[in-house]
Amino acid sequence: MKDFDSSNVSAFKDVWVFCEQREGKLMPTDFELISEARRLADELGVQLVGLLLGDNVEGLAKELGGYGADKVIVADDPVLKVYTTDAYAKVICDVIADKKPEIFLIGATNIGRDLGPRCAARLHTGLCADCTHLDVDMDIYKDFLSNNSVLAPERIAGLGTARVLGEPHDVSKDLKMTRPAFGGNLMASIICPRFRPSMATVRPGVLKKKPFDQAKADACVIEKVEVNVAPEDLKTEVIDVVKAAKKLVDLVGAEYIVSVGRGIAADVEGGIKIAEDLAAALGGGVVGGSRAAIDSGWLSADHQVGQTGKTVHPKVYIALGISGAIQHKAGMQESELIIAVNKNEAAPIFEIADYGITGDLFKVGPLLTEAINEYKANK
Ligand SMILES: Cc1cc2nc3c(=O)[nH]c(=O)nc-3n(C[C@H](O)[C@H](O)[C@H](O)COP(=O)(O)OP(=O)(O)OC[C@H]3O[C@@H](n4cnc5c(N)ncnc54)[C@H](O)[C@@H]3O)c2cc1C
Repeated sequence: MKDFDSSNVSAFKDVWVFCEQREGKLMPTDFELISEARRLADELGVQLVGLLLGDNVEGLAKELGGYGADKVIVADDPVLKVYTTDAYAKVICDVIADKKPEIFLIGATNIGRDLGPRCAARLHTGLCADCTHLDVDMDIYKDFLSNNSVLAPERIAGLGTARVLGEPHDVSKDLKMTRPAFGGNLMASIICPRFRPSMATVRPGVLKKKPFDQAKADACVIEKVEVNVAPEDLKTEVIDVVKAAKKLVDLVGAEYIVSVGRGIAADVEGGIKIAEDLAAALGGGVVGGSRAAIDSGWLSADHQVGQTGKTVHPKVYIALGISGAIQHKAGMQESELIIAVNKNEAAPIFEIADYGITGDLFKVGPLLTEAINEYKANK
């Protein structure tokens, strides 16, 4: 690390993704990030490299190739069996200092949110946390702005330089990292022009995983690196791992989600039961909630959908008694089909709903369940 100079921007090359595993199982965010990073690597004409740490994890590496990684660097050592910030940050910073990737992406999981800032600080570079969109190519970025922002077309067309330390700077090769800012009321695109790697954490569930390709998995190169973690590098020792007794709801992986909002206030238990029944009728669906439902203590925090909750894109998302605040929409508007039930016909949720039902959720919810069950019985 001694001679590492993050400001020597031209010395850096390739796109890297930190591939998180827990107990020998890759996380869904790995596949999402690798799929999207493939596009970024192609735009830059460089290699896409996965970085995998753990104990006895080499066998997992090829799968990452199936989603687009050209190469996977594996740091395999018993000291990396259970995640600790000290050991993981040390190994990652060592290998980055040695190989110098220009972009380094991390999933914004609990581990990623801990690891990302630590590595960025140690490498003396910038990190944009909790991104929801990434671009390198200017034309693709401009298309994204045209379709997702209220910027005037001439403003978008004129983009290409930024002022950095008073000098004009060409941003065409920089990673444009977009994330919600100011309570979700605006989107900010951030670049890291003076230092490398450009680092970003990306929210789980936001990026789409590409189909798995066995031929690419077979072609993926595995490179093992040495792990140098001395006892004095470790300031913490994991004595025991205690798992939460309660199983958390898997919103991100769910195909059907029925969410409830403050609209169930008149009968909270009844409202949640209606959502559970509807989710079950849809076939293994799960119950989500708006922040109002979580803050009221009606559902636990793992059920929250939205900017400060989970980002989901299920096949069907049903919103019962949810107004559709921008922070809620930010987490669910990419769902394949959105059905909203609200007694206020002017509720903003209807702006993004494919089907909107103006009515009382306590009446409409059971009718929907009944109709689905009837349809299934007749089929
Ligand atoms: C920084 C920040 C982050 C945030 N993050 C999130 C987030 O991650 N997720 C999130 O959801 N919110 C988030 N919020 C809060 C968000 O702004 C809204 O306050 C919240 O989403 C409102 O929840 P709601 O729609 O359930 O409640 P309300 O806005 O009160 O809406 C309740 C709706 O229920 C309808 N209704 C009432 N009774 C019935 C009935 N019987 N049948 C049918 N409809 C009925 C009403 O017409 C109304 O539209 C965040 C806010 C901030 C400032």
